Amino acid sequence: MSDDREIFDCIVVGAGPAGLSAALNLARARARVLVIDSNRPRNAATLLSHGFMTRDGVPPNELRRLAREELDRYPEIEVVQRASVRSVRREWATDAAFSVEISERARERVALSHAVLVSTGLRETLPALPSIRAYYGMSVFSCAVCDGYEYSNHPLALIGETDDLYDRALLIARWSGSLTVFTNGAAAVTGGEESALAARGIRVERRAIDDLEGHRGAISAVRLVDGDRIPVTGGFVRPLWHPVVDFLAALDEDGHVLDFDASGHLVTDRDGRTSVPGIYAAGDVAAPGPQQLIVAAGAGARVAAIITHDLLGVTTSH
Ligand SMILES: Cc1cc2nc3c(=O)[nH]c(=O)nc-3n(C[C@H](O)[C@H](O)[C@H](O)COP(=O)(O)OP(=O)(O)OC[C@H]3O[C@@H](n4cnc5c(N)ncnc54)[C@H](O)[C@@H]3O)c2cc1C
Repeated sequence: MSDDREIFDCIVVGAGPAGLSAALNLARARARVLVIDSNRPRNAATLLSHGFMTRDGVPPNELRRLAREELDRYPEIEVVQRASVRSVRREWATDAAFSVEISERARERVALSHAVLVSTGLRETLPALPSIRAYYGMSVFSCAVCDGYEYSNHPLALIGETDDLYDRALLIARWSGSLTVFTNGAAAVTGGEESALAARGIRVERRAIDDLEGHRGAISAVRLVDGDRIPVTGGFVRPLWHPVVDFLAALDEDGHVLDFDASGHLVTDRDGRTSVPGIYAAGDVAAPGPQQLIVAAGAGARVAAIITHDLLGVTTSH
C-alpha cells in the first residue's frame, strides 16, 4: 500500500528557545519543519527573564510570542501548539527515517521525518516545602546568573539537599554576602565546607525547614521546624532536574540506543548529534551547561545548521 503522507525534513519536539531558534534557522535553509509543543515552558513561574540581549527583562511568554510570530512568516514551518509527542520510532515502511506519534487535543496523528530534534527541556522537582511554589519565580529562583542581580546585597537563602550546595553558595555570594545555606536536615554540606563558608561570612543552617513565609510571592523568612524564623528577602533553591525524554523509549526498543549521562541528559557531540543518527538534541535537555535562554537559542541555531548539512551529506562546517 502506498503512503503519500508528507515527509518533513525535521520534526522539532519542544518550542522553547532551543526549538524555536532551530525551527527558524531550518526554515531559512528551506527545510520543511514541523514544530510540536506542549506549551509547558520551564520558566513559566517567573514574570521576567534576564540576560537575553535586546530582550533583558522581557516576560518569558512575550519572548515566545515574538519568536512564534517570526515563525509564522515562513510557509516552510507548521507549528502545532498544545500537542505532545508520545513516541519517536524508526520508520521502515517509507523513505522517512522516523515516525513521530503526536497527541493533539482530541486527535492522534503520526508524522514522518528525516530528522528529529529533541528540545524538550527539563522538569523540576523543588524541595518539598508547602508554600514554595508561591515564591518560586517571584522572589525565590534557581539560576543566580539569571536572577541574582536584582537581589544584590539582599539577605538571601540558598535551599537545597544536594552535595553541590557549597559551590552554589560561593556563586551566590557574588551577589550578596548576607547568605544563609539551608540544608533542610540533609547532609549536603561537609564540616570542611561549612568552615570555609563561615570564613566568608556565610552561615550554614542544618535544621529542617517547616515552610517559607512572606506575602504575595515576596519571601520574608525561612521558618524552621522548631519555630525559629530566619529573615531573608530573596532566595535560591537547588531543584532536582529531570530531562524530558520519556517519549524516546521506543527508539531503544527498535535497537537504536540513545546515550544519556548520569543525570539523565541526552549526550550529544558538540554539534547536537545524539548517538542515534538522525536524532539531535539542543537546550536544557542536552548535557549540562549554563541553563539560560540565550544559550538554548544558540544551541538551537547551531544544531539547525548541522541538521541542514547532514541531510545534504555535506561535511563543511560553515
Ligand atoms: C523560574 C525560572 C526562571 C528562569 N529565568 C531565566 C532568566 O531570567 N534568563 C535565562 O536566560 N534563563 C532563565 N531560566 C532558564 C530558562 O528558562 C531555560 O534555560 C530555557 O527555557 C531552556 O530552553 P529549552 O528550549 O531547552 O527548554 P524550555 O524552554 O523548557 O522548552 C521546552 C518545551 O518543550 C515542550 N515539551 C516537553 N515535552 C514535550 C513533548 N513530549 N511534546 C511536545 N512538547 C514538549 C515544553 O512544553 C516546553 O514548551 C529560568 C528558569 C526558571 C525555572
